[in-house]
Amino acid sequence: MRTTSIIAKKRDGEELTANEIRFVISRYVAGEIPDYQMAALLMAIYLRGMTERETAELTMAMARSGEELDLSSIPGRKVDKHSTGGVGDKTTLVVLPLVAAAGVPVAKMSGRGLGHTGGTIDKLEAIPGFRTALGQEEFLACLRRSGLALSGQTGNLAPADKKLYALRDVTATTASLPLIASSIMAKKIAAGADAIVLDVKFGSGAFMPTQAAAEELARTMVAIGTAVGRTTRALVTAMEQPLGLAVGNALEVKEAIATLRGEGPDDLTELSLALGAEMLVLADKAQTAGAGKELLRGLLRSGAALEKFRQFVLAQGGDARVVENPNLLPQAKQVLAVPAPASGHIISLRADQVGRAAMALGAGRERKEDDIDPAVGVVLNKKVGDAVRMAETLAWVHANDARRGREAVAALTADYAIGPEPGDLSPLITGVIG
Ligand code: URA
Repeated sequence: MRTTSIIAKKRDGEELTANEIRFVISRYVAGEIPDYQMAALLMAIYLRGMTERETAELTMAMARSGEELDLSSIPGRKVDKHSTGGVGDKTTLVVLPLVAAAGVPVAKMSGRGLGHTGGTIDKLEAIPGFRTALGQEEFLACLRRSGLALSGQTGNLAPADKKLYALRDVTATTASLPLIASSIMAKKIAAGADAIVLDVKFGSGAFMPTQAAAEELARTMVAIGTAVGRTTRALVTAMEQPLGLAVGNALEVKEAIATLRGEGPDDLTELSLALGAEMLVLADKAQTAGAGKELLRGLLRSGAALEKFRQFVLAQGGDARVVENPNLLPQAKQVLAVPAPASGHIISLRADQVGRAAMALGAGRERKEDDIDPAVGVVLNKKVGDAVRMAETLAWVHANDARRGREAVAALTADYAIGPEPGDLSPLITGVIG
């Protein structure tokens, strides 16, 4: 088999065979195919696309390119959850203990945040002592102990994706549907889940700009999951403005704890229940999403979900007292109010702009190697549709640096669009696929 022939085949719009795809992926990981040839193939895929069958083969070739987590010693159907990322998206912190409290084992590998979307690992590390670098044995031990384990991705999970992603980043081939879908699904499959629930977001704070693009990505990922024997369902959800009120690591943990107490913002609670309910259906714990939601609401009311979160924090070395006293989380030195420059209604508040304000405060990282400050961020007081009076507080900026704090206040003042009528807001959940 010759790499140039495979590149030429894809360049000419032909379908690659399973063997050809496995050949390029295994040789590339082994360092036997140079970056310039892989870059040419990626561009051909970008321009020509891939069939469903090719995309599924590419996914499995990447999933099998390194270590695969074996969860077979844990009884029950293991269901994973993945969000394509957004601003203020702390649903994982709420959904995982909820679903685990319902008796479904949850084993999750998560990433760190890059740019204005935060990563679950960064959020959990805001809890003093919480460890996310678990080896496979420890990961399984935590899973057995509390029915819930979360770890940062080990270096050798889907290494083909790691290498390809870096190459896509510098060859203008990131925004390709089969490449995005296979990249996400390869990691989920290597992490051992029997079934996968996806939250595919669209809007200013998301990877996919439009609802149509998010639906297409969701359909592609569901088709991959189905083709490789992992039941997959996707919710398509709006990310025009931040989810919930808090953006920033410790602030988001605090909001997740409030939500597990049943005192969270409506949108975060609604989405967490919807995602959790789909997970229960795929784990055969509920017949319908409606029944799943009812079950989960009961676990919020009884305190069982909050107790599961406490066990989870404890099992991974964290200070579980934060559950009772979130003020033990890192706190910023200054809390500055953002005053409304006019009276009216909030017409829009772009999630990406709020994300960038939080990032500039130190809550996110511009480059992979940047450190983050767990204490800083933004807490919204007003969201789209809310009425506001002049000088009323739109949001609070939590800052550890006076200059950065002032800059965030100015940026957020400009980010809120205020007008006479409430703005239009699309529904939070616009579709379920799969
Ligand atoms: N997230 C991934 O893991 N891969 C992509 O290609 C895009 C988003």
